[in-house]
Parts: sequence; structure tokens; C-alpha cells
Amino acid sequence: MNSPSQSTGCVYIVGAGPGDPDLLTLKGWRCLEQAELIVADALVHPALLIWPPGEKQVIVLPCHAEASQRAAVCRQIGEAARAGKTVVRLKGGDPGVFARLHEELEAFRRAGVPCEIVPGVTAAAAAAALTGISLTDAARASAVALVTGHERREKKVPLDYAQLASFPGTLVFYMGIARAGEWSRALLAHGRSAETPVAVVSRATTAGQAVLRSTLGRLVEDLERRPISPPAVVIVGEVAGLIADESRHPLPLAGVRVLVTRPEGQSAAMAQRLSALGAEVWHQPAIEIGQPDDWRPVDDALQRIEQFDWLVFSSPNGVRYFLERLLARGGDLRRLGPTRLAAIGPGTAAELRRYHLAADLLPEEFCAESLASALIAAIPDKSDSRKGDLGPRAAETVETQSAGRPSAAPRVLLVRASRGRDVLAEQLRAAGVEVEQVVAYRSTDVATPEPRNRAALEAGKIDWITVSSSAVARSLIKMFGPLLRRARLVSISPITSKVLIESGFPPAAEAAEYTPTGMVEAIVAAEKRL
Ligand code: SAH
Repeated sequence: MNSPSQSTGCVYIVGAGPGDPDLLTLKGWRCLEQAELIVADALVHPALLIWPPGEKQVIVLPCHAEASQRAAVCRQIGEAARAGKTVVRLKGGDPGVFARLHEELEAFRRAGVPCEIVPGVTAAAAAAALTGISLTDAARASAVALVTGHERREKKVPLDYAQLASFPGTLVFYMGIARAGEWSRALLAHGRSAETPVAVVSRATTAGQAVLRSTLGRLVEDLERRPISPPAVVIVGEVAGLIADESRHPLPLAGVRVLVTRPEGQSAAMAQRLSALGAEVWHQPAIEIGQPDDWRPVDDALQRIEQFDWLVFSSPNGVRYFLERLLARGGDLRRLGPTRLAAIGPGTAAELRRYHLAADLLPEEFCAESLASALIAAIPDKSDSRKGDLGPRAAETVETQSAGRPSAAPRVLLVRASRGRDVLAEQLRAAGVEVEQVVAYRSTDVATPEPRNRAALEAGKIDWITVSSSAVARSLIKMFGPLLRRARLVSISPITSKVLIESGFPPAAEAAEYTPTGMVEAIVAAEKRL
């Protein structure tokens, strides 16, 4: 990527690919990350347009934008770039295939802003790949033509169907469904065989992908019998008849749409796992995570961290915010010294690992109750240092601490969110443990959903919604209300399920292991049964 000059920004015209957001190029992704303004076509997958609030301005053009609307948007892009902004003009498929690229390049040239084009996977390539069709073939197709099926009558260079009919290879019609009758009859009239194989591929690479196999002679009749919804391409030629089995590698979640509701910046791993299994992933954060309103209690606890026997983390966010604060204030991990570390579950333990720390304690069940009893069992009784001993280190810890501090009660620092359950602190206190709690991050509900997510849910297009905590459950119920019943809910744990059930939204599946991976597995198991 060229770096834009100081004063003027740059417009990257980026091909978003045919639908599946994973088919965007890495270069395209880097452009999006840098962009301050993103102007996208309607067909672009929403996952590419969701960014943390306030980070970028996103404009989505309507499906059939008028010339005046397109010109106005080009002017807006030009002005933003001239003001020094990095702009991405995100177009479906490849920017150079039926995408009015020249019109826009000309507008940006007139505006005097530098432009760079980033190619994308065009619909023909995606549709062919997903149906196992090779667009060229040594014996059957020496050329490929990308053809518009929706030719403007006033076109300067009209299509010559006589030439197309004798074209020595594969024809791929874009925008070709509505006028399939016209162009197929024209090809037949100019001598292309009625038996020429045809594959209609609709919504290639999305959960709604559908394929219709036909022949040039039967195409119109078949389309009437089995209507295909746009966008679709029609592949015409011998190659379309070669492999007729598009389900050679069925993935367990192919065709399944999942709305992932984890907070911004924390959904990537789960989204990747879901799309590797064939699902189409949509995003709607239910909760926003941010800095606590007041860092003083954390700073104060960090000052005297050695006074605590245990540091207890009840979420990966707690780990991240607490340790980042320690590092930001110039400290390093040695400050934690002999303090033992407890994590509520494997996700929290994994977050500790990222900081090169191992959890000394992980409860058998990943919930506050289980963590409380594990801690109580693990904290050595001062009168008998072997009781509940976790190994030599526990005994050492007890000796040093009892030497420095006469109080016999073990001390625990609980790192938590600005809201959440108090079970852990209550149970530990009841067992005689001295508990101090600090709020290391703020968690707030996202009030309104993205309009396109709401519309998709209303239309019954979302198959599953992930519910990864009780707080997420409550926020989703507020956000969507009865609409939540339009999709199946997968809950992370019995505690989250309880919140859902009590509010009248029983989950269709519950994770056996209380982690995001557990939720993915629960969806796979439930889909198998359907
Ligand atoms: N620049 C785009 C094409 C835009 S024209 C590209 O390179 O793919 C819009 C047409 O593209 C649609 O009418 C349809 O023919 C085709 N198209 C776009 N996305 C598609 C998809 N996911 N599956 C099948 N056809 C698609």
C-alpha cells in the first residue's frame, strides 16, 4: 500500500469479494483498518462494516443508487480525501467487473485525490469454485467471457450474440436472471446448442447459496419452476456440465447464519471457528467494554499487591484490563511475586497465559460458586499448612506471609467488572476469607442493534444467536425483545440459560464446556439433530 501524502488522503477502491467476508484480501482488510470513511455497496457483507463506535464513518449505498446519488457520494469521498482522510470505497466482488469503476476513477481524478485499486474475488470465480466448476478447460473451454445479462439498450458497443454463440469457451452472465429469456433465446437463435450445460449460482459463498443445473434450452422453464433469488451468475458452457456435485465437502454449519454477540474486539476467535465450519457469521455486540470510571482502587491495590494471597480473575477482560494497568504504570509481572492466581474458566486462564502467567487454580465447573469452593479448599488453614495444600509453593507462601502479617485470615483480591454477580465475594467472606474487590473494567449494554441485524432477524434469516454471559442475555432481551424468538439461542452455561428461561426465552442449546468453543460445539450438535 502506498502511504498517502501528509495533506491529501487517499481513496482505496477495494473489492470486497462475492459475499463471504473471509474472501476479502489481506490488503483489502488492511485498507479497511486504516480507513476513516468507508463507502460500501449494498451487497457487501455487514461483517466488514462493523467497527468500534466512533472509529470510522460507514456509508452503505442502496442497491440501485441513482446516477445523482452516486455522483454525490463520489463528491463526498473526494472531499474527505482532500481533507486528508483515508477512504475505502468498498465494492462487491472485483471493482473492475460490472462496477462502474471508470465513472468513479474519473470523479476522483477530477477531485485531485490519489487512488489505489485493490482487486477482489469476482462472482464468476467464486460461483465456479463453490460448485466445483473449472471456468477454463484444456479440452472444452479455451476462453472465458464475463457478460452482462442486463444490457442497457443505449449501449455504445452492443453485445453481438452471433459472436457470443460461437465463443470458444465459457460464458458467465452477471445480472442475468431477470432477462434470462432474452439472452438465452438470442444465443440459441445464433446456433448455440440447446443442450449446452448451464449452472445458475445464486448468493455464492453466503449461507443462502443455491445452485440450479439446467441447459440453455430449458433454462427459462427451470427458472420458472424453481425461482432463484438474486444476486446470481449463470455459467454457460461444457464445463458447467462436468461436475454435478456441489456438496462434495459438506461442512457441518454450511448454510447456517450465526449472530455473534460478544463485545467488539472479542468475537474474532469464535467467528473464525464458526466460519471454518461453514457458517455465515454476523456480528451484533450486546455489550461494550471500556475503562473503569475510576482507576484509583485498582492503582491502590496494585501498590500493595504483595499483601494478597490470591488474585482472582472472573473474566478474560478482568485479566487484560488489570494487567495492562499494571504495565501502563511502569510495573511488570514481577510485581505479582508470590501472589497466587485463580481463573474462573479456561478463557480467563488462556488470557493469563498471554501474559506468560499460569493460573494456579481453575475450578472444575466454570462458575463463581465452583470457584469459591475451590478457593476455600485451596487456601491453607494457618493451623495446618498441609490442609488444602496445592504444592510446595503454597506452604512457602503461607510462611512468608504469616511472618510479615499477623492476621491469620487469607486475603483475596477479586478483579471484576463494574457489574456482575456478588456470589464469589459473599461465599468467600462467609468462609472467613478477607475479600477486597476492584473494578478493572466497565461493562455497559449496547442499546440499539444495527438496523441490518434487526431486519435480518425480522426476516427469519438468522439461525442462531450466541449468548455468552448473563449480562449478554439481559442486554439482548432489552435490545430485541420478542424478536429474539425468531432465532435459536445458544447459551454458554446453565447460569446464562437460567436468565434466558426466566425471561421466557429458553435456549435451544447449551454449551457442555462453558466457553465460546463449547457454544460452537453445541450449535454443531444441534444442527446435526435438526
Ligand atoms: N463487481 C461484482 C459484480 C457486480 S454486478 C463482481 O465482481 O462480482 C452484480 C452482479 O454480480 C449480480 O447481479 C450477480 O450477477 C453477480 N453477483 C454478485 N455477488 C454474487 C454472489 N454472491 N453470487 C452470485 N452472483 C453474484
